[in-house]
Amino acid sequence: MAATLLLSDLHLSPAQPRAVAAFLAFARGPARRAAAVYILGDLFDWWVGDDQLRNRFYRRIAEALRGIHDAGVPLFVARGNRDFLIGPAFAAATGATLLDERTVRELGGVRTLLTHGDELCTDDLAYMRFRARSRTPAWRDDILSKPYWMRRVLAWVMRARSRAAVANKPESIMDVNDAAVAQAFRAHAVSRLVHGHTHRPARHVVNVDGVACERHVLAAWHDEGHYLEIDERGVRVRRADAATS
Ligand code: MN
Repeated sequence: MAATLLLSDLHLSPAQPRAVAAFLAFARGPARRAAAVYILGDLFDWWVGDDQLRNRFYRRIAEALRGIHDAGVPLFVARGNRDFLIGPAFAAATGATLLDERTVRELGGVRTLLTHGDELCTDDLAYMRFRARSRTPAWRDDILSKPYWMRRVLAWVMRARSRAAVANKPESIMDVNDAAVAQAFRAHAVSRLVHGHTHRPARHVVNVDGVACERHVLAAWHDEGHYLEIDERGVRVRRADAATS
């Protein structure tokens, strides 16, 4: 039986040609043989609104996603902290179903919580404040009402500020908070969690109220791609590079 594939943090942009090549190969190859594909946030390095699809580079990515959908593979996209402005026009162009912040699915017979994961980093108070502000419909409407070039400049300024802030933050506050993780397992009654965002790929066993639960962290894409393959036999780490097909 075909496996479900999960990936995140591709951070695709014209500045990442190797990740782009790996993604295009993944979309032509393994993705089309999957039971379903879940992209759990930060597919793009920045997304200032669906009118970004006017750019040829992003249209090419959208067409690659469309190819997965057209091959009959259910395609799901969650929004990350870099691309939370992905909206209905992107979904229409790609055939992807946009996911809520958290999604529970039975994968390989295990009830699994899927999320980008930034909401689990509750120790980063400054980021949590920004996150709360920027996810409201009012903020979204306000930003999307600005011209494309202005949103592009704002995104550039915000990324520069974020880089400066990250450089001054201790490593620990940029990882998930253990209590927030335990709470997520409890709230959704799951024994497996898959998330990205922290760029710290691993499989953690977490004891939640005496039950051994699994937390799988997806890897960021740089020179090659990474994804998880889940079926009845378990969870496997896979690599994708431009030669993959
Ligand atoms: Mn992220």
